[in-house]
Amino acid sequence: MPHDEYACYGSPRHCSGCGEDEPLEPCYLRCFECGHIFNTAEDLLREHNAIIDSLNRQYPHAGCPVCDENWDLATPVPHETDASQVWTCPVCIHDF
Ligand SMILES: [Zn+2]
Ligand SMILES: [Zn+2]
Ligand SMILES: [Zn+2]
Repeated sequence: MPHDEYACYGSPRHCSGCGEDEPLEPCYLRCFECGHIFNTAEDLLREHNAIIDSLNRQYPHAGCPVCDENWDLATPVPHETDASQVWTCPVCIHDF
């Protein structure tokens, strides 16, 4: 259940991104900023691509003018298929 971070202040497990406590087991990646974990590369890609989907819905024919200098009004942002190319946490939007 999502809860306020002060409810477990100081806990290394608390994720400020989704508001839940994350397991401390080894995982594919842990965001150092919000503490969210991605168990596998597929998990990271799935959450990353969900953000792309929502951006594409928000801006139906646009890429992101901030991070993509070559954005094209006619081209939706394609899904990422290589987890090593994901540089931003899909939960807190902070760079890894
Ligand atoms: Zn917590
Ligand atoms: Zn994060
Ligand atoms: Zn989380």
